[in-house]
Amino acid sequence: MSELRKAYDRYIEEKGRWVSERLAGKYMVSQESRYVRPFRIFGNVWYVGDSWVCVHLIDTGDGLLLIDSGNCGATAMLVQAIWEAGFNPADVKWLVLSHGHFDHIGGALFFRRMFGTKIYLGEPDARAFREKPELSLIHVAGDPALELFEPDCEINDGDVISFGKTEIQFYLVPGHTEGCIAAFFDVTGGDRTVRAGYYGGFGFNTLQKAFLDDIGDTAHETRNIYLNSLAKVRNEKVELFLGNHCGNNDTLGRMQKLLDGDRDAFIDSECWGEFLDKKRDELVALMADPAQN
Ligand SMILES: [Zn+2]
Repeated sequence: MSELRKAYDRYIEEKGRWVSERLAGKYMVSQESRYVRPFRIFGNVWYVGDSWVCVHLIDTGDGLLLIDSGNCGATAMLVQAIWEAGFNPADVKWLVLSHGHFDHIGGALFFRRMFGTKIYLGEPDARAFREKPELSLIHVAGDPALELFEPDCEINDGDVISFGKTEIQFYLVPGHTEGCIAAFFDVTGGDRTVRAGYYGGFGFNTLQKAFLDDIGDTAHETRNIYLNSLAKVRNEKVELFLGNHCGNNDTLGRMQKLLDGDRDAFIDSECWGEFLDKKRDELVALMADPAQN
């Protein structure tokens, strides 16, 4: 067998092993099958994420704002979605990250290096990138190109920040990560203005006993912190609930209703509170599970 063929076979063998050994390799592969054609959610807010991880584009009237930057390895799809929505990716001036996990920071460095986009991240997650980079989970992401970074701006609890003509009220809602952000802002469509609400991370993967014990939270205090965060923003006025992952607000089901002609498919004053209450109840049940204590 030729040396060239041996080198090729070695490459294929290593590559296969490399992917399968990564816990979350399944999230990296077959990205294109998750492509979602972008659509206008309401007013100046567009959906440019995939069928698993949400990305929202806000046309602020003076530059584009992205909320999250897609799964690792999905940057080309995000760029395609922004073009397909009718915008130029080079006009993305700001990127607000929901939290510092591999499936939300995928395109962050690309946008900063390519277009000078300013990256915003909750202060505790910016600190985690410096001091406990393993909490980003990039080592299980299966993407050799993924790197951590210093954000341009760190978001603190209670910050109010203007992006073009859009003013966002931020809170920190620690739990899923310490630096998860919640965001509230006005969205105008036609002659109506509605209040949008966003909660930057609901997953219980970081609340499991094995995970908390491993990172040194043996009292599992993170779960109480998560419950407090839900309560903190539960009664915010939210008429337009934007998901962090598609399951949060049934993004794809509502998309179908939009396509079927319901222009208000995403306008819903109840679903924010209902979903936060559901997560509270699920977490209380997890905390009562003997296998989790
Ligand atoms: Zn996460």
